[in-house]
Amino acid sequence: MNSIVLVTGGSRGIGAATAVHLAKLGYAVCVNYLSNETEANNVVAKIEGNGGKAIAVQADVANENDVIRLFKVIDSSLGRITHLVNNAGIVLPQMRVSEMSAERINKVLTNNVTSYFLCCREAIKRMHNGGSIVNVSSAAARLGAPSEYVDYAASKGAIDTLTRGLSLEVAADNIRVNCVRPGFIHTNMHSDGGEADRIERLKKLIPLRRGGEPEEVAASIVFLLSNEASYITGTFVDLAGGK
Ligand code: NAP
Repeated sequence: MNSIVLVTGGSRGIGAATAVHLAKLGYAVCVNYLSNETEANNVVAKIEGNGGKAIAVQADVANENDVIRLFKVIDSSLGRITHLVNNAGIVLPQMRVSEMSAERINKVLTNNVTSYFLCCREAIKRMHNGGSIVNVSSAAARLGAPSEYVDYAASKGAIDTLTRGLSLEVAADNIRVNCVRPGFIHTNMHSDGGEADRIERLKKLIPLRRGGEPEEVAASIVFLLSNEASYITGTFVDLAGGK
């Protein structure tokens, strides 16, 4: 069976590293992105340069019609999906809960939670011979991100619960659902939170005394996704330097 994977938010950061790693192992990869077409095309070019197969598809995974279109494009361009990496996510500028508007909270929840549900739904419909899903949560689900973005942390808490519940729901269909919880990874996400040097500020509090690299997260995603992890479902790998 050919392995066909969607990596949401595959144009940058953890998603891009995961897409490149999976392609090296022979997966045909759909690199999804929101607006950064150039970066997505660069990831596809890198994969093709390594002899792999990939397509870039723009879709807002927080939008139901976009998700439906995204999966139809995968059906027609690569074939029926066998693996899913739910990775696309956002943070908004740091603020306390007492300052958060409903609009902001809903934006975070729609982008980080509804999107994962929709992509799981469309993937599971197609995984007739079993499959594997990895959700990218965050150490923030455990730590709460006080005075930074509790809305984001709560959205990732929801992903932990989604992982547990869905893994039990589809286990008998031979679909595995697992989760990674990174923290303090060197990507552009921290600039979106308004603090590009966030990891510099926090690294003295991290037991390993450094931030992580996207490739270090990708390695665990790839493992959980693969047959090497064939008896693992509903579980979590924490990648936060011991925090
Ligand atoms: P990043 O560098 O900011 O990249 C975000 C990716 O998601 C981009 O490819 C972006 O596409 C895409 N994206 C965002 N919203 C989207 C939407 N609505 N539809 C489709 N694509 C969308 O992020 P990252 O740091 O690699 O984070 C990846 C995942 O890891 C996220 O779920 C994040 O919460 C989680 N995480 C990160 C850290 C960390 O320290 N970096 C820690 C814990 C968890 P464009 O390029 O088109 O904008």
